[in-house]
Amino acid sequence: MKKKLIITVIALSLLLLAASIFCVWKINQTTTLKKSSFTFEYGKSVEITKNQLFDKEDLNSLQEIKIDVSSIKNEKNKTYPQVGEYDCTVHFKTFFTPQSKTFKVCVKDTVEPKFSKFTETIEIPAGTETNYDFTQYFKAEDLSGADIQIDSKSVNFNTPDDYTILVRAIDSHDNTVEKECTVKVTDIPSSPSVLQESKEDGLFYSQGILIVNKKHGLPSNYAPGENAEAGNQIRKLIADMQAQGYHISNQYSGYRSYSYQASLYNGYVASYGQAQADRFSAKPGFSEHQTGLAFDLKHTNGTLVETQPEVQWIKAHAHEYGFIVRYPQGKENITGYMAEPWHLRYVGDIARTIYESGLTLEEFLNVPGGTSY
Ligand SMILES: [Zn+2]
Repeated sequence: MKKKLIITVIALSLLLLAASIFCVWKINQTTTLKKSSFTFEYGKSVEITKNQLFDKEDLNSLQEIKIDVSSIKNEKNKTYPQVGEYDCTVHFKTFFTPQSKTFKVCVKDTVEPKFSKFTETIEIPAGTETNYDFTQYFKAEDLSGADIQIDSKSVNFNTPDDYTILVRAIDSHDNTVEKECTVKVTDIPSSPSVLQESKEDGLFYSQGILIVNKKHGLPSNYAPGENAEAGNQIRKLIADMQAQGYHISNQYSGYRSYSYQASLYNGYVASYGQAQADRFSAKPGFSEHQTGLAFDLKHTNGTLVETQPEVQWIKAHAHEYGFIVRYPQGKENITGYMAEPWHLRYVGDIARTIYESGLTLEEFLNVPGGTSY
């Protein structure tokens, strides 16, 4: 009797043990990940939940699930990861047996950069330098940063025509977007457009620009004072030069009345004789300073600016403020004056085009000039 009981207990225990082993084996066997690879777009934060990793029925039998994504590296100072492939782990327990499974997280940048500035048509006067800077017309943006590449090999800067250039924006993960842009190389007008010239109250305008040279004077009663916009711009230019360490004075010589120019000119004639005075000083009524749009820049030592690197900076940047260097070197027979690197004339936005053309105001507008009155 006793023996029978012992055998029964042993048999039941064995059966129970077998059943337990089978259950544990079965559960371990079936705990596979629902998904073992996840892809995220660059710029998005990575989040993985247990519901994405396991089937619902598996979840019921799992304990202490811990998802470990510490291998994912964030972009510096950002809340989203760097582009890459990361091995991550999930730890959990089944029937008190610790287990772990690995899964992959891929972070990809598939988004192309976008143009935030795109100029469809660019007009350039013929004869412009061949290393023309097109980048000013385009801008691209992307989360990872974007570069602009321009293929302008097809443009012949000397032959007026329409050309197509290829503008490419590339982000730092090589996503690329390309667009075409038309470059119109235009003829410099060979004859002055009559419509765009007008004479009002003794003032001579060409394409909206007031012309003062030895062929075009101003009435003695024309006294506009300093042009407010031009004055602001010259002070901005001076401040920027000073900030960059150039020796440039706050004192400039701007607006001059007819009578003040008369006294200046007569003084020069008395000292140098008329022929010499006419090379650098205007007769009253023929000075650009009477327009309120012309300014002579001065060195901090009080003289008119003739020093390097100041002169070079003015030559290269005046147009950014709406000015042109009015009397360049070697153009005395056209402008009527010897080189004056300090004398700036305000023309507004068109300054850039005039600067890029490399022409004097007279040549650019095709208006008469020269050394004789
Ligand atoms: Zn001047």
